[in-house]
Amino acid sequence: MDPHLKNELMQQLIAEISICKKCGLWKNRKNPVPGEGDLNAPIVFIGEAPGRWEDMEGKPFVGSAGELLNRILKKAGLSRGSIYITNLVKCRPPGNRDPHISEIESCSPYLDQQLDIIKPKIILTLGRHSTSYMFSKVGLTFRSISEAQGKIYEAKLGGSKIYLIASYHPAAALYNMQLEGEIEKSIKLAKDLMNKVEER
Ligand code: URA
Ligand code: SF4
Repeated sequence: MDPHLKNELMQQLIAEISICKKCGLWKNRKNPVPGEGDLNAPIVFIGEAPGRWEDMEGKPFVGSAGELLNRILKKAGLSRGSIYITNLVKCRPPGNRDPHISEIESCSPYLDQQLDIIKPKIILTLGRHSTSYMFSKVGLTFRSISEAQGKIYEAKLGGSKIYLIASYHPAAALYNMQLEGEIEKSIKLAKDLMNKVEER
């Protein structure tokens, strides 16, 4: 797709999200967090939902989980500017609780549209919510994040071949150091695949 058109479609979508009241989460939000990054990136990262800092700034992964993610990205040779990063749910659930199923159902069409605009070759899901959502979208069975993470899945999305990689959520690694190494492995897997995909 023409980069200008991509940009225009994404701006329209962001404008829609900024006034969205499709679920109750709009009531407590300071700012919706639509996502940010390179619309022409071969890879999209999908987190769960904004936290306190993301809600204040309107940007994804700017709090402590974001700092950890940035550190891991750097180690893998990736920068925030070279990827697109968004969340399954665009407004902050109060007290950082898990998003409800009804909220995911209301909000996920925005994610679907973002993926349709960007058309990434690789999707990396962070945490069980976005992983379970993308698995069901492409017809894979999700059992647990520990089973799903760290592998490459080939799938079809919107008629195109994509690679799906699941990772533990960086917030989980703040409480469990061991998980940081697993996240690193998943992101490195994505980076290596990105190099291969771009060679073609
Ligand atoms: N956790 C998420 O899942 N997304 C963010 O944007 C920040 C923290
Ligand atoms: Fe709309 Fe999503 Fe925010 Fe709910 S979370 S109000 S569906 S943008």
